[in-house]
Amino acid sequence: MQSTVYFYGGAGAVTGSNFLLDTGGGKYLVDCGLRQGLDEAANWEPFAYDPAGISHLVITHAHLDHIGKIPKLVKDGFAGVIISTTATKALAEPILRDALEILTRNAEHHGRPVLYDATHIAAAMRLWRGIGYHEKVPLPDGVELQLLDAGHILGSAMAHFERGGKTIVFTGDLGGGNSPLLKPTEEVHPTYMVMESTYGDKTRPEDAERFERLENVIEDAVARGGTLLIPAFSTERTQDLLFDIRKLMLEGRVPEVPVYLDSPLAEKITHAYMAHPEYFADDIRARIEGGEAIFTFPNLHYMQDADESRKLDSNPASKIILAGSGMSSGGRGLAHERQYLPDKNSTLLIVGFQAVGTIGRRLIEGAKTLQLYKEKVPVRAKVETLYGYSAHRDSESLLEFVNKAADSVQEVFLVHGEPASSMFLAQRIRDYLGLKATVPELGQAAVIEL
Ligand SMILES: [Zn+2]
Repeated sequence: MQSTVYFYGGAGAVTGSNFLLDTGGGKYLVDCGLRQGLDEAANWEPFAYDPAGISHLVITHAHLDHIGKIPKLVKDGFAGVIISTTATKALAEPILRDALEILTRNAEHHGRPVLYDATHIAAAMRLWRGIGYHEKVPLPDGVELQLLDAGHILGSAMAHFERGGKTIVFTGDLGGGNSPLLKPTEEVHPTYMVMESTYGDKTRPEDAERFERLENVIEDAVARGGTLLIPAFSTERTQDLLFDIRKLMLEGRVPEVPVYLDSPLAEKITHAYMAHPEYFADDIRARIEGGEAIFTFPNLHYMQDADESRKLDSNPASKIILAGSGMSSGGRGLAHERQYLPDKNSTLLIVGFQAVGTIGRRLIEGAKTLQLYKEKVPVRAKVETLYGYSAHRDSESLLEFVNKAADSVQEVFLVHGEPASSMFLAQRIRDYLGLKATVPELGQAAVIEL
């Protein structure tokens, strides 16, 4: 039998994941993400398919570039079933609600209509069914779905579709195996693989030393007498950092300066993490179930409201601020950046992938001034990067993941990467593994045996 995969988003780009698997008698979507960075305007374009004709939407994980357009899909007529792990469902609701605030602000700024409202989020949550890893879900047209652990963020999954002995796996984002909190990515042996390639052309030797590097950055930042500002994604990155900072402080390896978590969303996500111990690595699960508050320590303070957040900036003492908004595109993180970037004693630590066109990317590229809130802000603070906190695999480890599936895979489709990154990895898969690897363009279709 034949099916068709359509690459409607996350092809030739790292954001906006959206794939359609059409088996003839069944239409299933995988992910429905928001585009971020340069092609944000594309979010307002109509879907390339009729949302009402889709029976199931499978969600790999709760990052906004995989879930951010679900409420728009519902608004535009989708009335099928949304399937993800239970943890992903729990994380998705606060993330979507938080995104709505930012989307509303951005829409006003750009003079565009808001993509959706709170009623569409509520409607999406009513259609949403949480399942566990390895639970087999029959779909129409003789297809069976399973979710496998992707090891990327809590509850992250690969979507595994099977029919007539043939299989296709959509990897979603694949964890780097560097999180102490999560289980490693499961091995898969599918016929076809639609795989992410965010870091398809990068190697990150520092993954193993990220804990020591974080220790050095904190020591250096405190010694310089300023503030260490860490803009971090609210999901996974913040929890990884809290876990490691807690360890460094409890073991007396860094000075016990106050740590402020200034992101109401990250606080909610941290609570949702603690409510789902079964999704953690076994030793962490045991510690949580034994009553250990793995993200809590005496000098950690949660910033409740925006007033408190503003007051923080008038306090000159050394401190660490973990602020929301990983791509530095809005929220309180931006207000802190305006405060600390011009301060030569302060340090800005960038901990993950920054999409082209974002402020974070310009800082990594060495920008000396930035445009924030319509004003030019000089960059005098020390800018440090620590890629070891990326929740993604690097080029070597993506290749290794494909290699383990080489016994079964007929073709690998590389998505969720900037073109140079995907092309580079495709070439390596062809050269080193002798497998067929393609980089689909946006809107392209591929016929598969399924
Ligand atoms: Zn992700």
